[in-house]
Amino acid sequence: MKVKITGYTPDLVGKCLINNKTYKVPNTISDEVVEIDINKTTNKCRLIKVIESSPKRIKVKCPIYEKCGGCKLLHIDYSEQQVIKTNEVKTIFKNAGFKEKVNDIIGMEKPFNYRNKNQVVFGVDEKNRLISGFYEESSHKIVNFTTCLVQDEISDKIVQVIKELMEKFRITAYNEQKKRGLIKHVMVKRSKALNETMVIIVTSEKVFPGSNNFVKALLARCKEITTVIQNINPKLTTHVLGDQEVVLYGKGYIHDILMGMKFKISSKSFYQINPVQTKKLYEAAINSANLTKQDIILDAYSGVGTIGICASPNVSKVISVELEKSAHQDAIINAKLNNIKNVHFYCDDATRFINNLAMKKEKIDVVIMDPPRKGSDASFLKAVLKLQPRKVIYISCDPHTQINDLKYLVNDYKIIYIQPVDMFPQTEHIENIVTLERRK
Ligand code: SAH
Repeated sequence: MKVKITGYTPDLVGKCLINNKTYKVPNTISDEVVEIDINKTTNKCRLIKVIESSPKRIKVKCPIYEKCGGCKLLHIDYSEQQVIKTNEVKTIFKNAGFKEKVNDIIGMEKPFNYRNKNQVVFGVDEKNRLISGFYEESSHKIVNFTTCLVQDEISDKIVQVIKELMEKFRITAYNEQKKRGLIKHVMVKRSKALNETMVIIVTSEKVFPGSNNFVKALLARCKEITTVIQNINPKLTTHVLGDQEVVLYGKGYIHDILMGMKFKISSKSFYQINPVQTKKLYEAAINSANLTKQDIILDAYSGVGTIGICASPNVSKVISVELEKSAHQDAIINAKLNNIKNVHFYCDDATRFINNLAMKKEKIDVVIMDPPRKGSDASFLKAVLKLQPRKVIYISCDPHTQINDLKYLVNDYKIIYIQPVDMFPQTEHIENIVTLERRK
């Protein structure tokens, strides 16, 4: 069937209209004319041929692009990716009835190899050969790969060395079908700024025969590695990391520098994955607050305390709240590392915590909130209204959920700034800052 691509779905896949029904056509660009076939049972479209190609189409340099599904926009020129993302945010706000201006997305100069964390699954193929890669999109089949265009090159190299050494030392990968074998995943976290590298080897059980020699050989081949951790995850869950850990080499954590501040990163704590863009994101968010030395700010969903710590020199006090214990503990250490004394950390559910602040009528001048993808909740947002901060800065990694949350605030608050930031080039993900100011 020959169709014209008329735009994009909310997850930025090309779409076409057939008999008034919208179909997704992966690997296409708006205005292209393409030949597709549609699977009668699943209704899924497959691109057969591009008949009229878009000038924005570029050659995809990744061999597993279609199977992996991690970088859905690789076939689109980066400048156009930015236009598409800005337009998507504009559409979201317009459809929700907002008329405020959406700024152009803040893009990345070199939009490849930006990730500071990579996560690779290990397993075996039909012939029982060792493979490592990503799960195929919405499946548990592993797509083998050696390098990834958005991951750090050194981290990719370390994973390949681990694979070679596993063969040499006869260490098995975990076989999901047979529920046998040792290594399930390898995660590498890196600080480019400090050249510190943490390798986390996730195993199905505690016993790791020959781990000493294995780690020695790994360190000899990869000088960048500063610490190696064995994480034990016997469970069959979608969580990569288990609870128990053994440090096999080094300190068990790394440091990174962000906006001139030093941060401790441990295996389990959340840390933004694109350091170049994180700086731009935080600067834009903090600048939009017009902070003063008298201000008390609440940093909700604070992770390892990064935003609050970066903003702390500009204000009198920061109150940070984070649910994850490991991130909370790292946050306390991070304040000490930077000799910062005006940030107070709480390990709690953000909703429960902010409701307590509202009940006690605490003075909060600015709320900075950065919830996970699913967004915040009604109770949190109603508590914001009770606290009556001068400004609310809502950072979101999914503007589709952010827009629903904003509806609670816009009677009392007016939107003064909408700024998307491209934290995840080549992928469909959009990060967005919305700053609101209390109506007089
Ligand atoms: N602001 C941080 C982290 C953002 S990610 C940064 O920029 O790095 C979102 C964080 O919210 C994660 O650290 C997650 O652990 C935390 N979180 C998730 N649900 C929460 C809840 N109900 N209450 C408090 N924190 C929560």
